[in-house]
Amino acid sequence: TQWVYSFGDGKAEGEAGLKNLLGGKGANLAEMSNLGLPVPPGFTITTEVCTYYYDHGHAYPQELKDQVAKALTFVGRLTGRTFGDAANPLLVSVRSGARASMPGMMDTVLNLGLNDVTVEAVAKGAGDVRFAYDSYRRFITMYSNVVLDIGHHHFEETLDTYKDRKGYTLDTDLSADDWKALIPHYKAIVEKELGKPFPQDPHEQLWGAIGAVFGSWMNNRAIKYRELHAIPASWGTAVNVQAMVFGNMGETSATGVAFTRNPSTGEKELYGEFLINAQGEDVVAGIRTPQDITENARVASGSNKPSMERAMPDAYHELVRIYGILEKHYRDMQDMEFTVEKGKLWMLQTRNGKRTAKAALRIAVELASEGLITQEEAVTRVEPAALDQLLHPTIDPKAERKVLATGLPASPGAACGEIVFSSDDAEAAKKANRKVILVRVETSPEDIHGMHAAEGILTTRGGMTSHAAVVARGMGKPCVSGAGSIRVDYKAQTLTVAGQTLKKGDVITVDGGNGQVLLGQVKMLQPELSGEFATLMGWADKVRRMKVRANAETPLDARTARSFGAEGIGLCRTEHMFFDSDRIIAVREMILSDDEAGRRAALAKLLPMQRADFAELFTIMSGLPVTIRLLDPPLHEFLPHTEEELQEVAKAMNASPEKLKRRATELHEFNPMLGFRGVRLAIAYPEIAEMQARAIFEAAVEAARATGQPVVPEVMVPLVMTKAELDLVKARIDAMAAAVMKEAGVTIEYQVGTMIELPRAALRAGDIAQSAEFFSFGTNDLTQTALGISRDDAASFLGAYTQKGILPADPFVTIDQEGVGELITIAAERGKKTRGNIKLGICGEHGGDPASIQFCETAGLDYVSCSPYRVPIARLAAAQAAL
Ligand code: PEP
Ligand code: MG
Repeated sequence: TQWVYSFGDGKAEGEAGLKNLLGGKGANLAEMSNLGLPVPPGFTITTEVCTYYYDHGHAYPQELKDQVAKALTFVGRLTGRTFGDAANPLLVSVRSGARASMPGMMDTVLNLGLNDVTVEAVAKGAGDVRFAYDSYRRFITMYSNVVLDIGHHHFEETLDTYKDRKGYTLDTDLSADDWKALIPHYKAIVEKELGKPFPQDPHEQLWGAIGAVFGSWMNNRAIKYRELHAIPASWGTAVNVQAMVFGNMGETSATGVAFTRNPSTGEKELYGEFLINAQGEDVVAGIRTPQDITENARVASGSNKPSMERAMPDAYHELVRIYGILEKHYRDMQDMEFTVEKGKLWMLQTRNGKRTAKAALRIAVELASEGLITQEEAVTRVEPAALDQLLHPTIDPKAERKVLATGLPASPGAACGEIVFSSDDAEAAKKANRKVILVRVETSPEDIHGMHAAEGILTTRGGMTSHAAVVARGMGKPCVSGAGSIRVDYKAQTLTVAGQTLKKGDVITVDGGNGQVLLGQVKMLQPELSGEFATLMGWADKVRRMKVRANAETPLDARTARSFGAEGIGLCRTEHMFFDSDRIIAVREMILSDDEAGRRAALAKLLPMQRADFAELFTIMSGLPVTIRLLDPPLHEFLPHTEEELQEVAKAMNASPEKLKRRATELHEFNPMLGFRGVRLAIAYPEIAEMQARAIFEAAVEAARATGQPVVPEVMVPLVMTKAELDLVKARIDAMAAAVMKEAGVTIEYQVGTMIELPRAALRAGDIAQSAEFFSFGTNDLTQTALGISRDDAASFLGAYTQKGILPADPFVTIDQEGVGELITIAAERGKKTRGNIKLGICGEHGGDPASIQFCETAGLDYVSCSPYRVPIARLAAAQAAL
């Protein structure tokens, strides 16, 4: 078996297509080598070795040692050096690289191969003693931390003491002799903590580092990250061993990261940061404030440090040339890592860059306009769920801003909440339903759960590519990073800025669009959808087959839904219209009356209100289909809850409170979701359905007159399990339609259909379709009844089901394809067999879930219906499902 793949000198054994085997980084290093780009030579130990390692009690395949030795020789030949050689040593970096990018999650060791002997050779070879010893102490620190598990702080304390003694403030104050003098101290730390000396044998160092990278695949933060991103543990990581190039060889050397397009806005510009005379992770770690790459960016940021374009024009132009090649080759925005060693540019990584939803949209649309990808590909390039980010509020430009500080606009959108200083506090607050802003000096992978829980994130240190910035953008959370004027005191749980001290629990607002941190709660605006949004949605609409409707009952919801492109209302839950304060008493009168006359009297009060509601909806939807569902709450929900409410109804009904109390007790249910609701209400009290039908048809006449658009109401009967139930109710609806038509002297087109939300209904769909002109799958109830899991009480145990892998996802979020999905498929088939043109839709929560929408496409549904804010997501997901 080939366990090791080498690359370098314009060719490679691997290529980009081998991502599963070589990991993302390894595959792209191979690909860049094949493209003839300047990549330091190296080799990749495959992900299969990782799998082997964990399957065999942390042992390696037999042939691995030989293959690594051969690859080291190959790298040595290309660099003209020998690993471990006393006179001309090869130094390497050792990095992880999984299939899916897991930024900062796993470990890296740089400068490997240094020891007391080789450091001298490196000093001589580079003609720079300071550089050599600076690299050596970095290596000891990093290796000790990553491989030997000795904390950073040991070395930092020693360094600080040394600096204090010498009266230095900056690391750059230390001379060659200073670093040299520190090495014995560093080695002593290792010896003390480890009980044995720092390994001097480069081969021992190398295998130690390889083992540490494989080991890091199972560390807690990697496990947590995989959990959050649904990355299987079985994928494993590869290990990349690569000849070192040095960004810390003085003022003509540098290291940096760059995106081929702006990852926040999507603008086409080389965007990124670099640090002169620095190494590897310094930029990402956010310890020093980095410099801009382009002169334009420098001017915009107002930085007084020179841009790369000015400071290193040759390397800059080489980077520009390479970025063009990479974008054309990968046909997507790239996120690149590079190092400049004594003026020469080396590429260390490229990958498709993470981006905000806003940037994803703009990049997809522009790549298509530039002809690099097709419009259909552009549609697939934007994650439907990520559109949520665009629908985030921003700060009202007219609102007063009490600016406390300004940091970097790291992730767009604005958020407001109470200050918390730890991720655990953020999580606890979220559980208690409080909105918080997580404030940290900087974040690390240990903060993922807190970032998830917070509305927004604020850090006082770190650039646009710091951990906080990258992760927040990925999550779509507003983030301001590097607000350096804020002092955080974790102990006191306060932050101080411009003479003001705020404590935990005080409210601030962060504006991720411009980097401002504001005092208090600031007025927000709903987002405006940009030009690219409309363009991409237009392309999506061209390819999708399913229609997208909204679940809406209020005029506001209906308008929002239309503005997001809804093509009708798939579910108007009329019970939501019954709770309004102007009518709840009449509703209670209706329920609590013990005879039909009493109910009819109450219904007469409700009729004009319902009619007005429906007329408004029909008017807003001007001609688009509107499905109105007959009343479907557990009756129980309408009962008066307090003594006061009871008195109120008693007065309105002229009845005794005692009698009403008795009636309320009769109506009380233990399992209301499976009780007196849905069509069962209409069977017991047909006059309610009649009133609603009258209101619907009269409203249709009224709206058609007002708008000049025909209104074709779809009357939907909920929770049906037999054709007989539907027939009884349908007869009343048809009779009412006939009556209203006669009274108004017009004909009304309408349809009567049913929800399919009980397993029996799904199985008997063939008979039910004889009466129903459409089916709408109520997957909330269908999930509840098919799985026998109460939709209201599932939260306490369902988490364990997904964590243990018993269910792949929460079945109330993503459709349970094997069970509920099969019921839908059966119902669709049987329904169509009876009535070829039966209209099929879905209106449970799943109608807005991309994975479920994919299923709906396969099941052949005609439309999905979801909450208004999910309409754009559903449009895009439906398009992707059709492709
Ligand atoms: C459903 O059950 O999926 C549905 C849409 O109805 P409701 O959520 O109102 O019960
Ligand atoms: Mg339902």
